[in-house]
Amino acid sequence: MKIIVCVKQVPDTSGKVAVNPDGTLNRASMAVIINPDDMNAVEEALRLKDQMGAEVVVVTMGPPPAEGMLRELMAMGADKGVLVTAREFGCSDTYATSQILAAAINKIGLEKEDIVFCGRQAIDGDTAQVGPQIAEKLGLPQISYVAEVKKEGTSVICQRQLEDGYMTIKTETPCLLTCVKELNEPRYMSVSGIVDCYSKPLDIFTYETLKDDPLIDKSTIGLSGSPTNILTSFTPPQKGAGMMLEGADKATCEQLAGILAKKHII
Ligand SMILES: Cc1cc2nc3c(=O)[nH]c(=O)nc-3n(C[C@H](O)[C@H](O)[C@H](O)COP(=O)(O)OP(=O)(O)OC[C@H]3O[C@@H](n4cnc5c(N)ncnc54)[C@H](O)[C@@H]3O)c2cc1C
Repeated sequence: MKIIVCVKQVPDTSGKVAVNPDGTLNRASMAVIINPDDMNAVEEALRLKDQMGAEVVVVTMGPPPAEGMLRELMAMGADKGVLVTAREFGCSDTYATSQILAAAINKIGLEKEDIVFCGRQAIDGDTAQVGPQIAEKLGLPQISYVAEVKKEGTSVICQRQLEDGYMTIKTETPCLLTCVKELNEPRYMSVSGIVDCYSKPLDIFTYETLKDDPLIDKSTIGLSGSPTNILTSFTPPQKGAGMMLEGADKATCEQLAGILAKKHII
């Protein structure tokens, strides 16, 4: 069994978000982290590997330094990394990104028992579109918002998280699952994993590697293949300091009611 996990390196949105004058994100000036939901996807793949044996392949589309992230994931226990990187792939929106990742998965190869994992959503783009789009493009059954996974032969039984409960869904492999953080607690890298990670295989897929896939065409990848246009992006202005009223006596309550009434809130 092979488990392919799509992992995105994202700007650390808990720090400073930098925007270029043209409205695009200045990714180079921001610290990067592994997309949090994708850590749960990797953990689940490793858990299935521990239970029943599997080859875990971590895939990312990003600039060459994203290799460091793939090595970290191999130090956690992934067996192989695939870095999808090319000038032609830059400036891709979710449509073009899923087009390229689907072609990369075709190149790695999916067999009857295999699973593709994605995170539910990336913390920068925040669309939750890439996983479902990859499944559509590969013709795979998909389950999103997965909070529990059981694999029995060529069946996968998942608890799908809803706002007010869970839905149990069974599907056949090969399939694509998008994971939520409630699925598991990601493990740390081990010392032996860190020692071994540089001897594990890492493939680089360039435009040349993928160009013969029917999904790859100049009109479906990169900026020219991206139907989304960003009109503007900006850092929201900081909110002013709030006003604190202390005490629960009648006078304080009346003062609060007066302030709220003045602002037409009550
Ligand atoms: C016009 C335009 C230009 C853009 N240019 C760039 C650019 O140059 N560089 C850039 O990084 N972003 C760029 N973006 C943002 C980019 O489109 C999205 O970040 C990306 O397609 C993923 O969408 P998302 O962040 O909403 O991911 P989601 O759909 O929320 O992600 C869901 C899951 O899909 C998987 N996934 C998503 N992206 C990747 C990836 N790259 N590799 C592996 N797995 C992935 C992960 O498992 C993730 O958890 C651009 C967007 C637009 C609209």
